[in-house]
Amino acid sequence: MSCDICRLCLSKNNLVWIFDRRIENSENMKDVIYITTGVQINMNDTVSQKICNKCCEITVRMFEFRRISLANDRRLKGQEIMSVKKGY
Ligand SMILES: [Zn+2]
Repeated sequence: MSCDICRLCLSKNNLVWIFDRRIENSENMKDVIYITTGVQINMNDTVSQKICNKCCEITVRMFEFRRISLANDRRLKGQEIMSVKKGY
């Protein structure tokens, strides 16, 4: 199995190794991919540990979207608890 393939979309273009420190948030890239896609990539995987630029961008954006959604959810629920206490 060739390692020069995107782990997520199987593209062969613009590949980056996810453990490369040059990638933005590279130390978390493995977790970002796992949280957003459910795909677990380990350093000792025999299959590709690379993803393409496009997937890199998508996962980072999905992760950001998830982070904002969770923060807003907490905010809404916090407001709800406050209004219940106030008796609205
Ligand atoms: Zn890809």
